[in-house]
Amino acid sequence: MPYRHIFGPVPSRRLGISLGVDVIPYKYCPLNCVYCEVQRTNHLTVRRQKFFPPEEIISEVREVLSTNPKLDYVTFSGAGEPTLYSRIGDIILRIKEEFPQYKLALLTNGVLLKHPTVRKEILPLDLILPSLDACHQDTFEKINRPHPSVKVSDLISGLIDLRKEYSGFIWLEVFIIAGLNDSEEELECLSKALNRIQPDKVQLNSLDRPGAEFWVKPAGSRVLREVQRFLSERVNMPVEIIARIPSDKDELIIPPEIEQKFATLLNDHPSTPEEISKASGLHINEVSHYLRQLHLEHKISIKQGQKGPLFVWKKS
Ligand code: SF4
Repeated sequence: MPYRHIFGPVPSRRLGISLGVDVIPYKYCPLNCVYCEVQRTNHLTVRRQKFFPPEEIISEVREVLSTNPKLDYVTFSGAGEPTLYSRIGDIILRIKEEFPQYKLALLTNGVLLKHPTVRKEILPLDLILPSLDACHQDTFEKINRPHPSVKVSDLISGLIDLRKEYSGFIWLEVFIIAGLNDSEEELECLSKALNRIQPDKVQLNSLDRPGAEFWVKPAGSRVLREVQRFLSERVNMPVEIIARIPSDKDELIIPPEIEQKFATLLNDHPSTPEEISKASGLHINEVSHYLRQLHLEHKISIKQGQKGPLFVWKKS
């Protein structure tokens, strides 16, 4: 039975085998990152809402976890910012209570962590994976295109406060875009912020699947290693590269019926990930994983459309 709030489990570079829990409608987010793999934000907002009844989400989680799947994490993520869901705290507590054997993680852009109530709600998690791509407001605006009310200084203060209050693991992601946030000036400022935040580790990422904007390209391994060296000399926590490098082995096997579905769909008409998700009934994050794999296998090509990248099946 297709679920509305659950996707995967998907193999994840950062989290191993992760079951996704999506508590947000498509693309509600306080940011509109140029590299977003689930495309442009169509609801740029900082307002928390009760988008769905908690019971609807809990019953899906319960149905899947009662079958005892082998998982490394149950992860709040999806095509938007999970902390915008005003009942996320209740969901976290319920899963912890009913399924204490599973570890819970949260992927967040960190924007709402400036609010003490939001930080309090997520304290029971085992792992929090926030993002911080820039330290100067102008660079932050170029990369993350925030809601007008969002200041990167507040985001950094929220992360510092979270570290003081939260005893679980924090792995902070920095997404590198060559020419935007790899300058000495930006990295110097970022390293100072990282030393104040004190995450358990810093993870450098780069474009892996097509982003919201066509012009965003993966940072090469030379750039990533240089950034890693620069930060490592200045911060007192490990800095690792998690971006895929071209020699990495493929890790996703696409079921034949899914590949056929994509072939039929994209042969007939080039589509955005959102359109593919609607037509196939697959969650947008699963669509994004499959597109990445099909692209690696040279089965699809990408062209620029008005709403962002369009995917096209290659004629053999
Ligand atoms: S990458 Fe995350 S924070 Fe940025 S626009 Fe996409 S969903 Fe929002």
